[in-house]
Amino acid sequence: MSQVAVKNLYPLLINGEHCESSSGKTFPTYNPATGEEIAQIASASIEDVDRAVEAARAALKGKWGKYSGSRRAQILNKVAAIMRKRFDELVQLEILNSGKSLSAAQGQVGQAIEDFEFYAGATTTLGGDTIPVPNGFFNYTLKEPVGVCAQIIPWNYPLMMAAWKIAPALAAGNAVILKPASLTPITALVLGEICVEAGVPGGVVNVITGSGAVIGSYLAEHPGVDKVAFTGETTTGKDIMAKASDSLKRVTLELGGKSPNMVFEDADIEAAVDGSLFGIFYNTGQSCEARSRLFVHEKVYDEFVSRFVEKAEKLIVGDPFNKETHVGAIISEAQEKVIDDYVQIGLAEGGTLLFGGKRPEGEEFEKGNWYMPTIIGNITNDMRIAQEEIFGPVVVIIKFSDEKDLIQQANDSIYGLAAAIWTKDFGRAHRVAAAVEAGIVMINCPFSAFPGLPFGGYKQSGYGRELALETLNLYTETKSIISYIGQRPINPFGI
Ligand code: NAD
Ligand code: MN
Repeated sequence: MSQVAVKNLYPLLINGEHCESSSGKTFPTYNPATGEEIAQIASASIEDVDRAVEAARAALKGKWGKYSGSRRAQILNKVAAIMRKRFDELVQLEILNSGKSLSAAQGQVGQAIEDFEFYAGATTTLGGDTIPVPNGFFNYTLKEPVGVCAQIIPWNYPLMMAAWKIAPALAAGNAVILKPASLTPITALVLGEICVEAGVPGGVVNVITGSGAVIGSYLAEHPGVDKVAFTGETTTGKDIMAKASDSLKRVTLELGGKSPNMVFEDADIEAAVDGSLFGIFYNTGQSCEARSRLFVHEKVYDEFVSRFVEKAEKLIVGDPFNKETHVGAIISEAQEKVIDDYVQIGLAEGGTLLFGGKRPEGEEFEKGNWYMPTIIGNITNDMRIAQEEIFGPVVVIIKFSDEKDLIQQANDSIYGLAAAIWTKDFGRAHRVAAAVEAGIVMINCPFSAFPGLPFGGYKQSGYGRELALETLNLYTETKSIISYIGQRPINPFGI
């Protein structure tokens, strides 16, 4: 169990200072593995949002706006250093509030730290271009911060998503208002505190907690906000985009997925089994890039499926704080119900339950929210369970016989976030990688995200890329400066 000290009340962070909500309201946050309340969280009011926006606007005009890239780099590196020092505490808080396994939490806190280090390095690369123009003229471009960025994030990777958002925004010189998910606010609030300790000037990073429908929505249409960076459900993303359109805010969206995982007849079956298990059951299946549609070639279908189920039986579900655990808790009771409803829909559509399909049994699962890793075979790509994102530990298996037909099915989805390919045929691997409509393609590889690699989706999986150098383009405006340097004055009208 956790040894970490948890505060009774987590306040807002506005203008570099902790404060309660102006309404005095708070809301509880829970440990998904036990259902126990762990703390109260300040519930920001509309007035608090206005104050945060005002603080961020003022901060842009203050000393932050005058800092050099290398000064910002020093601060981002300091954020990373403090996070490293508080690594165990961040891991424990993340597990306590999200129910994810120790190994998953350690990996994600580690990556959050590396994100700050990556963007610290990137700050000094942020420059414009000199573009050849006709004789007598001279042009260059400047990269300027977009301004005040509202950053709204989900519950599945609470700290890592906060890092993906804050680090590039600060690297490019912006000020942010981060709105974590109400189910998992704690580590984002602690990260805000760490930013202040590292020397981020007051108002540059504000963290406000509360209802997405109220304060998230209000941020998306706030005239003082220049950009909204959102990660979450596709339907919420559409709502945000519509609200942001009134003042034409810059919008980037990281949304849902139903990513195909394709196992060809010549794949290393062992590696494909292990990678496919990780691809769906990592983070208890609560991943945007979960490979939730598993396509297996008919020639290896029986062998693959029997080994896949055999290995799934070995997955350890249970106490997230146990270092042996592979699969932790489900985030909420409501999400557990969504998952079970989808399993029932899949079975009613004609799917065959090969593993799981229920809450695990035993004393340790009497409280909290749980669902067994679940495998459903005999699925076709047109079924609801193959088309809709479940966001839980449920994989559906579809048999295929032909590469062209497979690609057509893999692309037959409103989503286009990730795809995985298992084959030893070099030509096929890259042919399929080129043909599949996805922002991230993994070849014989279970991992999808490293700092520096662009992360984001095609189609309704979103718009824009995070985690990479090109992300900085989405946190800057380009100013093109053209000048005349010839000796003779120009008289364009000739009069
Ligand atoms: P969600 O859309 O329910 O909520 C995300 C955030 O938006 C929360 O902070 C919430 O409070 C806020 N919000 C809710 N309604 C809002 C509104 N009307 N206006 C403004 N803000 C609002 O998402 P979730 O349930 O927290 O997360 C799960 C989803 O996130 C899944 O669909 C998953 O695929 C997606 N996700 C995508 C990526 C990616 O990189 N593509 C990464 C992680 C998660
Ligand atoms: Mn949701």
